[in-house]
Amino acid sequence: MTSSHKPTALITGGSRGIGRATCVTLAKQGWNIGFSYVSNQAAAQETVAMVEAAGGQALAVKANVANREDIKQLFAAAFKTYGRLDALINNAGIVGEPRSIFDADDAHLTDVFRTNVLSYFFCVSEAARLMSTQRGGQGGSIVNMSSAAARHGGMPEEAHYAASKGAVDSFTLALAKELAPHGIRVNAVRPGLINTTIHEAHGGQALINKIGPTVPLGRAGTAEEVAEVIAFLAGPLSSYVHGTLVDVAGGR
Ligand code: NAP
Repeated sequence: MTSSHKPTALITGGSRGIGRATCVTLAKQGWNIGFSYVSNQAAAQETVAMVEAAGGQALAVKANVANREDIKQLFAAAFKTYGRLDALINNAGIVGEPRSIFDADDAHLTDVFRTNVLSYFFCVSEAARLMSTQRGGQGGSIVNMSSAAARHGGMPEEAHYAASKGAVDSFTLALAKELAPHGIRVNAVRPGLINTTIHEAHGGQALINKIGPTVPLGRAGTAEEVAEVIAFLAGPLSSYVHGTLVDVAGGR
């Protein structure tokens, strides 16, 4: 297998929203792109077309990050295509149905934590094997997707979501210590209210219109504004940024 001369980024959940914007932003900056989606093949194909229009190359892999076997296949496919891995963007995540703590439910919590937390452990485990300078790799960068909800508690009846993102913060800080000797930088971004499809089941545009003006900057953010920060953390310009949780939340 020959290794591409361009750096390679693997983005989970790259078919829509912040993940898609990250694919396009990194492609514009000269990265090869591998990304996963779970079900929306049309959206994934649209992302591939957007990356190609930006002058890049994208590999779309159908892989449910809640399934460890899918994760292994995702990394194997990306490595087979590009021969190297330089950055992992652990982005895929779900909010889960609103649920009062009085109705705490095993299946509901397991779904949210498996997708938002366990998958991040398993993806980092795969990525670190490929990137570790102690295992023959070239080092690299990991960006975990947290949320401002980790520090302000999130929306009503969404403790499950806020807590899952709190776990991502702790995970990031711990990994920064563990993976530094392997030449791997680890950071997280904590977006606030961002205008993406994730809000569709929770009020959609009406929710964004209601909360947007209460943000100090007076509006919701865009996926592209988050993607720019992710790209900075993924690339060489942030070479001394490590173990940091970066808020991209308009002051909220
Ligand atoms: P989105 O528009 O709903 O997009 C979610 C993406 O993740 C899609 O590409 C989707 O694939 C993929 N995905 C979902 N479940 C998956 C699974 N089990 N396996 C693989 N891929 C999966 O979401 P977004 O707003 O861009 O959010 C991305 C991340 O940012 C999430 O972790 C979210 O918690 C975080 N975040 C978002 C906001 C916000 O306001 N938007 C704020 C803070 C943090 P399909 O297209 O196939 O469904």
